Amino acid sequence: MNVDKTAEPRPLTLSELTARGWRSETVKAEMERNLVRLLQTHQPIFPTVLGYEDTVIPQVLNAVLAHHDIVFLGEKGQAKSRLMRSMVGLLDEEVPYIEGCEIHDDPCNPICARCRSLVKQLGHNTPIAWWPRSERYGERLAPGTRLADLIGDLDPARVAGGTAMSSEDALHFGLIPRFHRGIFAINELPDLDYLIQVALFNILEERDIQIRGYPVRFNLDLCLVFTANPEEYSRSGKIITQLKDRVGAEIRTHYPRSREVGIRIIEQEARNVTRDELSVEVPAFMTRIVEQITIEARNSPYVNHRSGVSARLSISNYETMLANARRRALLLGEGRAVPRMCDLSSLYTSTSGKIELDPFREETVTEFHVINKIVEKAVKVVFDEYFAREDLGSLVESFRKDVNVTTSDQMPTAHYTRILDRIPQIWEPVHILGGNVNDALRASCIEFVLEGLHTAGKIARTRSGDLVEYLRGSGGGRG
Ligand SMILES: [Zn+2]
Repeated sequence: MNVDKTAEPRPLTLSELTARGWRSETVKAEMERNLVRLLQTHQPIFPTVLGYEDTVIPQVLNAVLAHHDIVFLGEKGQAKSRLMRSMVGLLDEEVPYIEGCEIHDDPCNPICARCRSLVKQLGHNTPIAWWPRSERYGERLAPGTRLADLIGDLDPARVAGGTAMSSEDALHFGLIPRFHRGIFAINELPDLDYLIQVALFNILEERDIQIRGYPVRFNLDLCLVFTANPEEYSRSGKIITQLKDRVGAEIRTHYPRSREVGIRIIEQEARNVTRDELSVEVPAFMTRIVEQITIEARNSPYVNHRSGVSARLSISNYETMLANARRRALLLGEGRAVPRMCDLSSLYTSTSGKIELDPFREETVTEFHVINKIVEKAVKVVFDEYFAREDLGSLVESFRKDVNVTTSDQMPTAHYTRILDRIPQIWEPVHILGGNVNDALRASCIEFVLEGLHTAGKIARTRSGDLVEYLRGSGGGRG
């Protein structure tokens, strides 16, 4: 129950609290109450979780209204963590608890021995403190998690101090008791040790557990959220049935259903590089290529689809591309940083760790080869969107006259003005791309047209170190 804190200072004793009309409430009831208010007033819920407005979010809201624990099933990088953390927004800004309690006991319904005797002793004068919602969310990665981490262990100092071992006074509380009245998330649930799953179920459902042979009883109140890879979760024997049974909602997450959503995610998440030092401009086709690389990686037969390709691939590729363009502009003393095709070769560092090659493919291919293929395909897809219907024949024709063009990620913008002089036919497609705005943008458009012609098999390309040369001949870039 929310206490109106604007009128008077917030209650600091049990009697002040109850006089203000405060009543006990489970964490799930609290979340439901806040959600109902948000729904009634048509306020945005989880506004930073993009692309799930019509799929995942309605299911999460149903689970909250139904007081269910949730397991999110999905491949990596599908915003599962963000969703779980966003649920904190459904908690009250702060809740009262008995001051000094390690498990933030409900003032009207304490469950620990210390607080129960404190309330008996001090009654209405029991001191109250306030717990902010940001601290009421905890998470843990399942692999390597021990029973002591999750539930607790006997505290040797307290045992030595003569505390009766049959009571929980001798217990050093683990994460689950510490997030009593909060939201607790366990990532990669199928990797949680079998015995710990049993213990977790016991403490949540049966309300008791044995720690080193000593029984401890607790009436814990938590909202639990889990994540799991869908294949592992459904594999028999990975999750004990009782625990699976307790989870009310299984919600399947997914990757962005459109490139537009993927681009919105990049724009929301990528490190903002607007600085005084430079003006940074990203042509729309470059952003599209970055997101298309991720889409191609998800579709590539060489990539392991069980683990998936995270949305973080797009974000870190975008950041790397910008970094490479900024580095060039700074080194060359240019005031404008505009990413271009040559910058894509710097994406290897941000890509290689995020795609996993399919271990069951017999063909031996290197990661480098796979990434190159994916990038080329992405460039081709985006190029075709701009130019599939354009007649670029006269431009291709100009390469027949033994014209060759060299580009590199460290070439100054002025170099590209000379390319225009030599092949005036390139001006038209560059103009279509919006390359008339400034020199740096024009350089980027020129590279895109050249690379696009190569991926379309119209001109050849050779590479030597950083230098890329486009010349007569068919590229073989189709593959
Ligand atoms: Zn307590």
